[in-house]
Amino acid sequence: MSRIVIVGGGLAGLAAAVALTARGFPCTIIESRPRLGGRASSFHDSTTNTDIDNCQHVTLGCCTNFRHFCQTTGIAEFFRREPALYFIGPSGKADRFAAGSLPAPLHLTGAFARLSYLSWKDKYSLATALKALARPVSEQDESESFAKWLTRHGQSQTVINRFWFVVLVSALSESLERISLSHARKVFVDAFLAHRDGWYVDVPNVPLEVLYGGRLTDWLTSRGTTIRLLASAEEVELVNDRVTGIRLGSNEVIEGDEFVVALPFFRVLSVLPESLKTQADLQGIKQLEAAPISSIHLWFDRPITDLPHAVFVDRLCQWVFNRTAIEAVQIRQTSEPNSTESQLVDAYYYQIVISASHDLDGCSKEETQQQVLKELTEVWPIVADAKLLHSRQVTEHRAVFSPVPGVDALRPAQQTPVANLQLAGDWTQTGWPATMEGAVRSGYLAASNILKRKGRHDDVLQPDLPTATLSRLIFGLQS
Ligand SMILES: Cc1cc2nc3c(=O)[nH]c(=O)nc-3n(C[C@H](O)[C@H](O)[C@H](O)COP(=O)(O)OP(=O)(O)OC[C@H]3O[C@@H](n4cnc5c(N)ncnc54)[C@H](O)[C@@H]3O)c2cc1C
Repeated sequence: MSRIVIVGGGLAGLAAAVALTARGFPCTIIESRPRLGGRASSFHDSTTNTDIDNCQHVTLGCCTNFRHFCQTTGIAEFFRREPALYFIGPSGKADRFAAGSLPAPLHLTGAFARLSYLSWKDKYSLATALKALARPVSEQDESESFAKWLTRHGQSQTVINRFWFVVLVSALSESLERISLSHARKVFVDAFLAHRDGWYVDVPNVPLEVLYGGRLTDWLTSRGTTIRLLASAEEVELVNDRVTGIRLGSNEVIEGDEFVVALPFFRVLSVLPESLKTQADLQGIKQLEAAPISSIHLWFDRPITDLPHAVFVDRLCQWVFNRTAIEAVQIRQTSEPNSTESQLVDAYYYQIVISASHDLDGCSKEETQQQVLKELTEVWPIVADAKLLHSRQVTEHRAVFSPVPGVDALRPAQQTPVANLQLAGDWTQTGWPATMEGAVRSGYLAASNILKRKGRHDDVLQPDLPTATLSRLIFGLQS
């Protein structure tokens, strides 16, 4: 039996493990932290005595590989599909955004037309830019930032702030000045233009720990995969152009025949042997840059909205998730009556997400929280009367790689120059931005390379949603 070792228990490593385990090749996963999930994970909040996510993670209908991963391991049931999105315009009015009965790409035209915070002139202008965006990207276009492209295509500051920023900054977690045209195009084509279901937002109704620490761990271990938590990889050992093992911080060596290193881009080079670090194919890794995402967690003594979520337009807050409404089961511990803890048992929990939160760098936590509360009060005046029982603020400074122009040329393939060593991670060559889908794709691609080396040519990577006929005719999209 072949021994397969996977370094890193984030979604990329987990996806490689799931693909291989499902085909009868159990693996050993080495993870430095006490839990799986990597950047998509929870931590324990001692005040509420609950696991809360480092940040709300959502996925879209177009994320076919992530969905396949969830269905394979039985965690798909922990996601709820939002039938509509609620956009809160600058006046505070909520616009319901949902697909009509027309086929793609016309299924969302009614919803766009009804957005109350864009004028007809704005809508016409963005429709013409959308048509231009659907065209294949030329090499020259790819060298400029999306912000410049928007200006070149006559987009006013209002349309940029109220439309392009809202969609792209949450999808790619970067400012428009640091987004490439091809990454922007991918978001719109995959989520809005190619297929009716691409835009649906699926939200986990349990903390991420339940997904990756519970059900998924059971799925893997019951099929023979070993999970080594709190085991930090120090070095990939290479003998005669072949990886022989992974040396841990404890000096223990985990030997194997096939290896997947699924670490973040800013860690990976530190564990690779010198001879690999200098390989031309891996030099781009050093130039990858990261972008931050912040989440503000608030517990109130009363509900502040009935909406399950809200997308704020042209404000600091970008998404508000009503976790109390979303969570399937409130996992709380009992506590003494009248204690702060007992108030928290009945508290209403909301999570505010601010992607590409570069501007928060110079602000204190208090200043950010004040601005968030001010915006929530403007939209839902009941916030002024509500008692804030508890709050947390988390900023992941290296949340995602920045999809800057030219970034894809820096991303290495999963197959390294060493035949029995694969890389995986959302930052490797997947064609996708830094998302759970991108991470799962990278893991599936790494697993597929290992299977090929064993003479198996399984279709590990799942196909995209098929492009609708009308989308091909109107926008010239390829299937
Ligand atoms: C705040 C935030 C919000 C996000 N929101 C979304 C969202 O809504 N939707 C979405 O699709 N994506 C979102 N993402 C992106 C998504 O989380 C990532 O793209 C994805 O989880 C990356 O997975 P990965 O396996 O490539 O990397 P990671 O999750 O970083 O996994 C790498 C693993 O390696 C481990 N490790 C590091 N060093 C060592 C070592 N020496 N030895 C052993 N193990 C080691 C780490 O602990 C980690 O578990 C978000 C990310 C963040 C941070």
